[in-house]
Amino acid sequence: MNMTVKTPKMENRQPVVVERSNHTISRKQIDPDALKVLYRLYRNGFKGYLVGGAVRDLLLDKTPKDFDVVTDARPGQIKKLFANCFLIGKRFRLAHIRFKGGKIIEVATFRKEPDEPTEISVDKNNTFGTPEEDAFRRDITINGLFYDIANFSIIDFVGGLEDISRGRVCVIGDPRERYTDDPVRIWRVMRHAARLNFSIEEDTARGIETCKHLLLQASGARLFEELNKDINSGFSAALLRLFHRFDALSCLFGTVGTYLEKSPDAVRKVCDLLEVVDSTRNSEDSLSQEARYSLLFWPWANSLISQNNQQDVDKMELLNDAFLGTGMPIIIPKGLRAGIIQTICIVERMFAAMETSRMKWSLKKRARYRDASIIFSIIHNGCLVSARDPFEDIFREKHKTAPRRPRRRRYKKTKKTAASPDSPGA
Ligand code: ATP
Ligand code: MG
Repeated sequence: MNMTVKTPKMENRQPVVVERSNHTISRKQIDPDALKVLYRLYRNGFKGYLVGGAVRDLLLDKTPKDFDVVTDARPGQIKKLFANCFLIGKRFRLAHIRFKGGKIIEVATFRKEPDEPTEISVDKNNTFGTPEEDAFRRDITINGLFYDIANFSIIDFVGGLEDISRGRVCVIGDPRERYTDDPVRIWRVMRHAARLNFSIEEDTARGIETCKHLLLQASGARLFEELNKDINSGFSAALLRLFHRFDALSCLFGTVGTYLEKSPDAVRKVCDLLEVVDSTRNSEDSLSQEARYSLLFWPWANSLISQNNQQDVDKMELLNDAFLGTGMPIIIPKGLRAGIIQTICIVERMFAAMETSRMKWSLKKRARYRDASIIFSIIHNGCLVSARDPFEDIFREKHKTAPRRPRRRRYKKTKKTAASPDSPGA
């Protein structure tokens, strides 16, 4: 981005305004439905700003995932303007404007950070604010920029333009306070630094060191949502490396993280596996959710199984108990956890079969066999192999065995009698 900007001082809150002729965001890059929403707000006398990830990504010449809008119109006023508007949210009322194909443009009224964030009452959280208060309640400076539909300018209260130019992620306000109010912001800082390959501003980074343990107290369901976003983002390996750099893996994954922090080989292995996951993001062979998570947990689970490799150990039970005992704050839903464990156990059998040359092919009937076969090949080859059953190919290549021909069924000839229920005339 080619733009010279002066960072505003937080105290005077005078925004930097960059006029249309001095920035690169064109309306052609903005989703037409988001533009419709912005224009309708503006024509009805309200402010209409594009905000957050969309402005950041457009300035960085990336394609935004979603287009969020902020306005001074109250939720009830927004609803009156759009027939396709649905108000959602208990803590803070947001408007969802629905368009064809399930597209939603989210419209929020400017709000400020609640004075006492621990007191979760509807009134406290529904505190409307000014544009500058709305900018200052956001997580990081590069996410606090507005694009104003009135004159197509960019409004910067928080120094986001300078941070975009410098390629760095910086928390808005005092990092320790902001992380204490919402520890998920630590994750968001790491996410954006990993995705954009940005540096992390010094104080923002120091705050992570002091506050990373707060992640252990964050909502498990919310942390799972965050992990899901990242495991599908194409940048999961970069993110894991960053968490590792901050010695924060145990704050996310409990004893799984401790294991990774102590074992450089294991962490390298997970990152290599996640690189493969990341590379499949936009391809036709994209991996299932179970497969992605199984790769994430493979080095840990594999080491655990190796340590408990006695005949009488039920590996499913071993992994299930181990998962429940990790102390990780992320809550992985039960069904997904079961899928990961089943997949890992089949992969484990495949590796054993490679050694012994004996494979129990009836495993093919298991629901998770296909994922296991793909995962096996990723671990074995270090990349995704395009084949119907990559494990079987690798196994037969090593042991020079040919696939068994399916057994022909033999039918006993039975005399059909006139009374037989199978006879066409019966
Ligand atoms: P993405 O490209 O992943 O969608 P994003 O920055 O748009 O990135 P969202 O989760 O869509 O992320 O959030 C939209 C905006 O809401 C952010 O840009 C940020 O301004 C604000 N925001 C989100 N989460 C927080 C948070 N925990 N604290 C403060 N502001 C937040
Ligand atoms: Mg977004």
